[in-house]
Amino acid sequence: MYAETVRNVAIIAHVDHGKTTLVDQLLYQSGMFREGELDKLAGGEYGLIMDSNPIERERGITILSKNCAIQYIDADSSVYKINIVDTPGHADFGGEVERVLKMTDGVLLVVDAFEGPMPQTRFVLGKALQHGLKPILVVNKADRLDSRPDDVVNEVFDLFVDLGADDEALDFPVLFASAKEGWATKDLAKPNDNLKPVYDAIIRSVPAPKVDPDRPLQMLVTTLEYSDYVGRVAIGKVFAGRLTQAQPVTVIDKDGRHTQQKVVQLYEFERLGKKPSLTAQAGDICAVAGLDPVDIGDTIACPDEPSALPIVAIDEPTMSMT
Ligand code: GDP
Repeated sequence: MYAETVRNVAIIAHVDHGKTTLVDQLLYQSGMFREGELDKLAGGEYGLIMDSNPIERERGITILSKNCAIQYIDADSSVYKINIVDTPGHADFGGEVERVLKMTDGVLLVVDAFEGPMPQTRFVLGKALQHGLKPILVVNKADRLDSRPDDVVNEVFDLFVDLGADDEALDFPVLFASAKEGWATKDLAKPNDNLKPVYDAIIRSVPAPKVDPDRPLQMLVTTLEYSDYVGRVAIGKVFAGRLTQAQPVTVIDKDGRHTQQKVVQLYEFERLGKKPSLTAQAGDICAVAGLDPVDIGDTIACPDEPSALPIVAIDEPTMSMT
């Protein structure tokens, strides 16, 4: 089933702890772990990672958009799509945090190996734990000579306890990384020269989206963007069924009002941008242009059997609000 190859993860990090650098490197290395390619990596063919010239490396860094998608091909050639969604780091964005987290099944918690966890990430992490998301701790900047990775792991552990994490949540994978140098390892005594442990932790410990491809379409609108060319663009996750290009849909707003509309352009996320797509399957995060009216919290549904997704509960996404 398609959703088995999708992972939706949120990224939580205090400013400057290395989120952009990590995503940039994850994009950069994503195709390198196919059978045989790793040998080339070890052989230095992908020179940027091995002897990272800081100026060259900086050039690769792109501003992190709110959504990005990484296609990861593992050693046995299985192809995964990892959607990474950014989370605002402040309690002021409470509603937005909840909506973003609702699309995901896991979180990458990026913490600076010198600074340790900062109070601003506490709120978002607390929400992620409440929603039962699987955390993966990335202790970044482990290359820094003044880093104190073991203390930082303990501090994060204490934070989890403080936030009321249960035993299962406390059993989170821990990776030490240098996003800047492009490596991650479970054990600093066993150095590694790539980020494979990060992709593997995402594939193994974050569950595939729990969605129902056989039910009628339900997509929950999480964010809105505006484009001069196509107008409003509604972004969100398909929880049931699938959405196709040019499809007639029923948009159900928060008050339960239905409007009959049509998808003008469908997009999927690819790397740091979007590309036109013919279908979006249950489990995937996509963008739809051409709907008006449409708002955050609306459900895009199938005209034959329109039913709204719940606004708050994340556990039973196919439950009707009425
Ligand atoms: P963000 O605000 O979380 O997106 O952080 P950035 O990715 O922009 O990184 C902030 C600063 O930390 C930049 O100067 C990066 O070059 C630096 N940085 C990021 N990752 C690492 C790392 O693993 N090691 C070191 N030493 N510096 C890093």
